[in-house]
Amino acid sequence: MSTSFILSAAQAIHDTILSHESELESLDREIGDGDHYINMKRGTGAITNMQSELEPLTADAALNKIGMKLLSTIGGASGPLLASFFMGMAKAIKENGNESLPTYAKAFTTGVDVIRQRGKADIGEKTMLDVLIPVANQFNALAANGVSAREISIALISTAEQGMLATKDLIATKGRAAGLGERAIGHIDPGAKSCQLMITTVCNLILNHENR
Ligand code: ADP
Ligand code: MG
Repeated sequence: MSTSFILSAAQAIHDTILSHESELESLDREIGDGDHYINMKRGTGAITNMQSELEPLTADAALNKIGMKLLSTIGGASGPLLASFFMGMAKAIKENGNESLPTYAKAFTTGVDVIRQRGKADIGEKTMLDVLIPVANQFNALAANGVSAREISIALISTAEQGMLATKDLIATKGRAAGLGERAIGHIDPGAKSCQLMITTVCNLILNHENR
C-alpha cells in the first residue's frame, strides 16, 4: 500500500460521503442525533486537505497522522473509534511491513480489533462493527488463501453490504440507539452504512485501477 494510494482513497471516500448526504443524515436522525453525516464530512474533508503534509510520509506514518486528525475533527462516538482504526492499522503496518495482501488484511483486522476494544462492542450490537468484523474475517481468509486483490475486492463489497443490511433487524446494545430498544428495529445503523460506503469505495478504486 503506497501513500499515493492512501491519498487517492481518502479523496474518493470524501466524495462518496458527500454524495450520500441525505441518506447518512436521515439514518442518524432516525436512531441517533442526526450528526453522523456532518461528522464524517468534517473528518474526511480534513484528510483531503492534508495532501501535501501526507505525501512525503511512509504509509504507516500517513495512516497514523490520518488517525490523529480524525480524532480531533470527527467528534461524536464515531470519531475516536475511526481514529483508533487508522492508528491501529498504522501500528500493524509498521510492525509487519507493507508488502502483501495478507499484511494488509492483518493491518485492517488490527484496526478493527482496536475499535472493538475501545467501543467495548462486538458483532450483533447494531454498530459499524457489523460491517467491519465480517469484512476483516473474510479479508484475512481470502488473503491467506492467495486470492487476488480483484477477487477479494469483489467479495468484500458484497460482505460489507450484507453486514450493513443486517443491522436493520437488530436491537442496538451500544451507542445512542441503545436507548431505543425495539424502536431501533427497521433502521440501518448510520455508522455501519458509512463504513460500508468507505469499504466499497476503496474496493472499487482497486477494481478500477486494475482495469486500467
Ligand atoms: P454519536 O453517536 O456520538 O452521535 P455518530 O453519529 O458520528 O456519533 O456515530 C454513530 C455511530 O457510531 C453509530 O451508528 C455506530 O455505528 C457507531 N458506534 C457508536 N457506539 C459504538 C461502539 N461502542 N462501538 C462501535 N461503534 C459504535
Ligand atoms: Mg450521531
